[in-house]
Amino acid sequence: MSELTFTPVIGIEIHIRLKSDSKLFCSCSTNTDAPANTNICPVCMGLPGTLPRLNHRVVEQGMLAGFALNCGIRPKSLFFRKSYFYPDLPKGHQVSQCDLPITTSGYIEVHDDNGNLKKIRVHHLHLEEDVGSLHHSASDGRLEGADTSYVDYNRSGTPLAEIVSEPDVASAREAVEYVTTLRRRVIYSGASDVELEKGMMRFDANVSMKCSDGRWGKKVEVKNMNSFKALERAIEFEIKRQKKLMLAGEDVMQETRHWNDAKGITSPSRVKESYRKFIVEPDLPPLYISQEWIDRMRAKMPEMPDVRADRYVNEMGVPREVADFLTDDKNLADYFEACVKAGAKPVRAAHWIRTEVLRVLNEKQLKISDFHFKPEVLTDLVTRVDEGKLSTTQGKEVFDYMIANSVSIDDAVKSLNITEGGVAGNALSEIIEAVLKANPDVLEEIKSGKDKKGKKLKFLQGLVMKESKGQAKPQEVAEAIAEAVK
Ligand SMILES: [Zn+2]
Repeated sequence: MSELTFTPVIGIEIHIRLKSDSKLFCSCSTNTDAPANTNICPVCMGLPGTLPRLNHRVVEQGMLAGFALNCGIRPKSLFFRKSYFYPDLPKGHQVSQCDLPITTSGYIEVHDDNGNLKKIRVHHLHLEEDVGSLHHSASDGRLEGADTSYVDYNRSGTPLAEIVSEPDVASAREAVEYVTTLRRRVIYSGASDVELEKGMMRFDANVSMKCSDGRWGKKVEVKNMNSFKALERAIEFEIKRQKKLMLAGEDVMQETRHWNDAKGITSPSRVKESYRKFIVEPDLPPLYISQEWIDRMRAKMPEMPDVRADRYVNEMGVPREVADFLTDDKNLADYFEACVKAGAKPVRAAHWIRTEVLRVLNEKQLKISDFHFKPEVLTDLVTRVDEGKLSTTQGKEVFDYMIANSVSIDDAVKSLNITEGGVAGNALSEIIEAVLKANPDVLEEIKSGKDKKGKKLKFLQGLVMKESKGQAKPQEVAEAIAEAVK
């Protein structure tokens, strides 16, 4: 019997916090870092008799996120009540667009394991409100032997987009590429900052296995992943677990499992998901979106990162790897484009940002948005290097000096005792003469034609550069030496 093979079939659900100052159905602040239960009101608490009012800013953010996923916008969508009880949901239901969402289907492109582009279809994106949060702590002493849980409703009613994919993902690696690409595109759209460390992106995965003997395993929903790493590990764990069961001839049970990041395992969920009955939210009218509104929002969409990277490669000659690196962070790419706009040569500017600017940002633990070195100033500096007024080494010295002392380029050049424009002609020929005098054997070898690979010539150039304390221009030195040894 030939060996059995297994193909993972994976769908991913993502929750993203949309960027908005106020909540989905009330005007409370979305600042969830505020002291517990300070950004709440009767509406987001769900007290009886209160009426929700839809925040149109969030609708616009939902549209932008939808465009980023290549989705269309539905002219009419609805809100529903997903009823269930949990202490972080005082009104007993969550308001969600689950069944008639704001967007139609879309897709995200990723690479399969052979490096070919494939589409992960996005079934839809819908808007919904978040629930409160529970904080568990050890006993506070009031109830002997009992642990205590505290509820904070600051998060209750903050706006979320839930993004549901088709089961097109075939590996944990593909899953990570899918969520990474999706996140970057959503950030570019302006719909959300998707700060992972602030819990603005959470994942659930539906994992099942198809066996080469025709058997299909049941679908297992894995919940509670809050990072790319957790998503990857959880999927890898489930694939292994289900494969093992199927190899042993056992059934994979359809169930919900929770990912335990500390233990690195999934285990059956103790919470029964019992909100299978939805009713239309009676307090909210249908959401109608006009074509004019859709067009207006679409016009706001910036160039997406992959398109931008292609442009850097094809129109500016930036190496692919550097282009991908720059466009990974929209602010970094914007900084690069500001340099190019100010007159910097694209390839030189791209490399400088990639190496020198990034080095400083890492050392100082800064984001590019907090970097005070203006693109125009960096352009001035790299242009001086480009024109040979400064050697590359000098350019870096000047850059570091400017950062450390907050001074202008000219002041840094002065303080570092650098003579811009290299070493004056006379001085250079004096240096070359001295170097040749000190190395007669090398000179002899070159003259007799033994230095076929030019190694000795390079050696002399190195000595001259060193004598000039790095101030001579390499090109001039090379030419002058070539002339002198003729
Ligand atoms: Zn409120």
